[in-house]
Amino acid sequence: MMTSYRPTRMSISRSAIVQNIQNIKRYYEEQNRPIRHFFAVVKANGYGHGMEEVVRASESEVNYFAVATVDEALRLRKMTKLPILVLGPSPVESIPEAVTHQITLTVPSVEWLVEAENQYPREPLILHMKLNTGMNRIGLQTGEEIERAFQLLRNTAYEIEGVFTHFARADEEERSWTDEQVRIFEELLQYFPERPSIVHVSNSAATLRFPEYVYDGVRYGISLYGLPPSPYVETILPIRLIKAMTLTTEVAKITKVPSQSQISYGGTYETKKLEYVATLPIGYADGLRRQLTGQQVIIKGSKYPIIGTICMDQCMILVNENISVGEIVTLIGIDKGEEISVNDWSNSLNTINYEVCTSFSARISRELSQ
Ligand SMILES: *Cc1c(COP(=O)(O)O)cnc(C)c1O
Repeated sequence: MMTSYRPTRMSISRSAIVQNIQNIKRYYEEQNRPIRHFFAVVKANGYGHGMEEVVRASESEVNYFAVATVDEALRLRKMTKLPILVLGPSPVESIPEAVTHQITLTVPSVEWLVEAENQYPREPLILHMKLNTGMNRIGLQTGEEIERAFQLLRNTAYEIEGVFTHFARADEEERSWTDEQVRIFEELLQYFPERPSIVHVSNSAATLRFPEYVYDGVRYGISLYGLPPSPYVETILPIRLIKAMTLTTEVAKITKVPSQSQISYGGTYETKKLEYVATLPIGYADGLRRQLTGQQVIIKGSKYPIIGTICMDQCMILVNENISVGEIVTLIGIDKGEEISVNDWSNSLNTINYEVCTSFSARISRELSQ
């Protein structure tokens, strides 16, 4: 956590994150399928919520963290002693550091193992093997490749602790794609000399929909933060998701703008009468994308629209004489019964909530609240 002179702040609710984890764990326990290994996915700065804040909130509720890169894992290692899995492909040059800091790496291909065992065969490295069952991104994809991998592993100090795959379409209503991926996964598991201790397949969407695919754990990302993985999954949620993020700033200046004056770059907004314009210290370099002109914000329980071109560091909103400098502006969150969510932004932007929340930049200070 870092204090800042700029009032543009993200506040992350500890209790939202804790409840999101506890609720899904309880839902599984009720079905006699306890989640043995709960991987909290905190890549991309905790989905933009702030890795440190998310780790502090979730650490007591989970037993594994997952990130995308070794660099993220090294940053995370300074915050926790829990095991860390790097989900993506890591350069083999990172192996010594992964060993030193007890970071678990993913085997993305046979070629990776060849390279790794040529360079670092004696490093006591913990690995999860990735199986490609339809995503066609990374992973071993045939029985032959798996057999070859285990031959290579014989001359090393590497330990295969886990095996996993990743679903391409678990968030869609049609479940046959996911079922087919599980069928292929099961088929490939037959080639393992023994079953690794942590078998895991489910992301948030699959976790929320298919308790039968829990295996030994789940990799829970987007819904840890209280966000639904897709509009479809949102309609069939078995538990309540509680949004963890609140993004606020303060009115920096009020300008009384005469009629027929232009606001901001390019004059894309022109006043029709004497209008009150409030300037906010947040812009596209913070993650407030330029296409969000027209999006509303909340002040004292009322909504006001962003007008004119959004600047790099500031933007303008249309208010009235009731609004003064210093007032709290909620860009994402709830204020006196009004709410604006990450999903409102992603709908306006024609993208997914994942992209919106991971786009909040490092310039926004994060803090953990109760
Ligand atoms: C990001 C990621 C996840 C988490 O996905 P969500 O949809 O956010 O739950 C799980 N597994 C892998 C391999 C990932 O890359």
